[in-house]
Amino acid sequence: MSHLLKATDIRKSFRNGDEDTLVLKGIDVTLDKGELTALVGQSGSGKSTLLSIIGLLLRPTSGELEIAGERVDRLSERRRALFRNERLGFVFQFHHLLPDFTALENVAFPAAAPAGGISREMRDRAAELLRRVGLEDRIDYPATRLSGGQKQRVAIARALMNKPDLIIADEPTGNLDTDSADTVLELMREVNREDGATFLICTHDQGIAAKCSRRLVLKDGLLDADEAGRRLP
Ligand code: ADP
Ligand code: MG
Repeated sequence: MSHLLKATDIRKSFRNGDEDTLVLKGIDVTLDKGELTALVGQSGSGKSTLLSIIGLLLRPTSGELEIAGERVDRLSERRRALFRNERLGFVFQFHHLLPDFTALENVAFPAAAPAGGISREMRDRAAELLRRVGLEDRIDYPATRLSGGQKQRVAIARALMNKPDLIIADEPTGNLDTDSADTVLELMREVNREDGATFLICTHDQGIAAKCSRRLVLKDGLLDADEAGRRLP
């Protein structure tokens, strides 16, 4: 069986003054289509660095990365940007919505920006996604008039806009109160279960991680554990 993602011996060092610090020391991991995986580990353990490498936002110092059968670590900057936009979806701790745009315009953005405008089809898909995340009554609201939890639901809809192979979320509930965090996680679980979307979610929240179908534990720059999570009804 071919994996959706295969990372082989990923290493990353950062230069601090005249010293190199090795943050990732050889990560080997595969993800299959349809998985909902949590990446956990102490603050500073390298979670965001690994997610940025998998999301093609950062290049590894060495190692190989294959996504959907393509060797993405070898792509040119231009091809990387294209791959990122067409094949990956991102949700960050801070929603990064465009404040002057409506919920619908924000969701459509990943398709509309490269096309240079928003088409009828894009509007329809964005509206459908907003319904999907339970915000059908907020479609024309400017982003600034949404609550924190609603903004993060818009961000999830935006991440789904281009039907990505993989959705990468870095502390997606880190800025939310417990109730909104639960709603946002529940939504990702639902999209995973019903639409078969594949998620890799980095979190330091054990409660969130426990609800994912798989947990990867990052420790001292290496994967320390790979556990099947508690499957909830
Ligand atoms: P986590 O997301 O698990 O908290 P990070 O991946 O953000 O951890 O950071 C892991 C380590 O790498 C930390 O020690 C951090 O200071 C260091 N680091 C991250 N990004 C950079 C960078 N651009 N330059 C130098 N050091 C960095
Ligand atoms: Mg981080």
